[in-house]
Amino acid sequence: MAKLYFYYSTMNAGKTTKLLQSNFNYKERGMNTLLYTSVHDNRYGKAKIASRIGISENANTFDEYTNIYDDIKSALEKLTLHCVLIDEAQFLSKQQVKQLCGIVDDFNIPVLTYGLRTDFLGEPFEGSMYLLLWADELVEVKTVCFCGRKATMNAKVINGVVIRSGKQIDIGGNDKYTSLCRKHYKIGKLR
Ligand SMILES: [Zn+2]
Repeated sequence: MAKLYFYYSTMNAGKTTKLLQSNFNYKERGMNTLLYTSVHDNRYGKAKIASRIGISENANTFDEYTNIYDDIKSALEKLTLHCVLIDEAQFLSKQQVKQLCGIVDDFNIPVLTYGLRTDFLGEPFEGSMYLLLWADELVEVKTVCFCGRKATMNAKVINGVVIRSGKQIDIGGNDKYTSLCRKHYKIGKLR
């Protein structure tokens, strides 16, 4: 039976590299995949999933209006699909996570999602929250704080100071976000 997977972590832990590696494994065996990323993430140009280590793949985008279930349903009229992979899954809505459950349950297609567990204030993203609640498999992609402990928090850092307020969605690369353990996030120590 197919399953819904949620690979979660902090920023810069290598989630996208893992997504592209899984996609490669399917394609290497002659299987068809469909990739999605959020319209919010335009760091690497539109409709592209790119890893910091230099590999990339074309992707569809989703915004708040995208019905991923209907998308997949019509794609299935033209081809066999073996896997759906979704980057920036924290930006999914509750409704879209429900749609992903439907893809797994109705079409028996595995759905692999990759996203952040918390925002820079330590609050949940809607997509991640429902994936944590509803996914069949939760897989933590681990990375470390400068102190060597597991990093669980995303600190937004401007001029060396950890920012404690602001809007949840503000896309930035490595320069704006630092992955820290909870202790060092709380006291705002960066090194
Ligand atoms: Zn630490």
